Amino acid sequence: MNNYHLINNGKAMITLNTFKVYNPSTSALIAEAPKATVQELDDIIKGACDAFPEWSSLDYSERQSYMLKIADILEQHSEEIATIITKEQGKPIGAALGSMFEIGGAIAWARYTASLELPVKILQDDENGRVEMHRRPLGVVASITPWNWPVLIAIWHIIPALLAGNTVVCKPSPYTPLSTLRMIELMNSVLPKGVINSVTGGDELGAALSNHAAIKKIVFTGSTATGKKVMSSAADTLKHLTLELGGNDAGIVLPDCDPEAIAPGLFWGAFINNGQTCAAMKRLYVHRSIYDQVCDSLTQFAKNIKVGDGFEEGAELGPVQNQMQFDIVNRLVTQSVEQGGSVLLGGPLDNPKDLFFPITLVAIDDNQNPLVQNEQFGPALPIIPFDTVEEAIAMANDNEAGLGGSVWTNDRDEANRVASKMECGSVWINKHGAVQPNSPFGGTKSSGLGVEFGEEGLLAYTNIQCILS
Ligand code: NAD
Repeated sequence: MNNYHLINNGKAMITLNTFKVYNPSTSALIAEAPKATVQELDDIIKGACDAFPEWSSLDYSERQSYMLKIADILEQHSEEIATIITKEQGKPIGAALGSMFEIGGAIAWARYTASLELPVKILQDDENGRVEMHRRPLGVVASITPWNWPVLIAIWHIIPALLAGNTVVCKPSPYTPLSTLRMIELMNSVLPKGVINSVTGGDELGAALSNHAAIKKIVFTGSTATGKKVMSSAADTLKHLTLELGGNDAGIVLPDCDPEAIAPGLFWGAFINNGQTCAAMKRLYVHRSIYDQVCDSLTQFAKNIKVGDGFEEGAELGPVQNQMQFDIVNRLVTQSVEQGGSVLLGGPLDNPKDLFFPITLVAIDDNQNPLVQNEQFGPALPIIPFDTVEEAIAMANDNEAGLGGSVWTNDRDEANRVASKMECGSVWINKHGAVQPNSPFGGTKSSGLGVEFGEEGLLAYTNIQCILS
């Protein structure tokens, strides 16, 4: 059962202690994961520091080739990694947005990111002088990831960090450490030693990474509460930060939409990975003239979605990944009903026996309802009516989160006008949450700092150095 180990400076590292990892669909024990101590973490960071001078001195094009080798080795092991993801995370292996999709996305992201360039910019070159702006790597980057898309999010961190010339120590969530451990082991079969390292254990390791003097940047994806702790512990050594934090994305449906035609897009925008997606639609605002029809179409569509064990034939959604998150979803749905919401589908559970939460739709006419105001991060969607577009925009913006949003209409100009008033980092039109590697992605307000993806995402792993002559 214990085939998982840390990678420290290119070698497997066996820790004295381990912790248990469970399958959320069956509650069965999957494996014991390594539980590193803070001293072991120190040793791993030292390996990453030692590897930095050589890795950062390679030609940029050599590092591009290495990133393509990573994509190739992951592709050769796609099924193996997808199987681990389904076992530990719960998402169905073969579903349209399941584990094979996650690993496919990771490979595509690695390849696209590898194609980005980091050219020297000539800011001035005339009789008065020459100014060259170079991009230099930072040093050792710590990557801290959550449990919802363990492989894809780790790739979002690791590939641009390595490409820019940094070395990396990656700490996955203790709920889903195994796919990351295996992925980093595979990466080490094609990269020089010390360049990419893994460390697993409890949340205390995240804290130890965040204030470690040798770490130059933290790229963190997780909850807003933890992101604030990371920011404060990074302050002492002035680390660079990218913080991708919680979202509570609003979708706004304008009156010209055809309810039946948009139902599948609305559903998957909200319920991708069982709602356990930062940029899933978590609040749906619908114009009152088509409110009942949208509620009906969405309910009909949702009724036909199969929820089950990720290895079961035809399962499209799995369980909630862990008990803590399950309890948050159940509590928010319970409170939403106590405070006036009407259940259209699913609903709160009195005596839950496992981590499968029913797909839940709640009609709510109060923007302050707890299921509207808080991030549920699970399979429950509040649907709220509005009378004027300005009212919908005000309700959408009346929230601390500002990650993504969407507008649903056939009127492109109106969509752009509404988008320009939404306080969030990405706005999708007639779709939701469709992140792509060439479109910088990040949060405003409490949803984070900085962006990932595209050239802007790559630049976030560099310092500027100007050479003036
Ligand atoms: P979390 O904040 O509990 O944990 C995230 C990671 O931080 C884990 O690896 C955890 O071990 C580590 N950690 C815990 N305490 C720490 C500390 N004091 N210092 C440093 N690291 C610490 O989040 P989660 O429950 O794993 O993930 C769910 C949350 O992540 C949701 O709020 C979701 O919206 C957010 N999320 C955001 C994005 C995005 O791109 N904006 C993407 C995915 C998830």
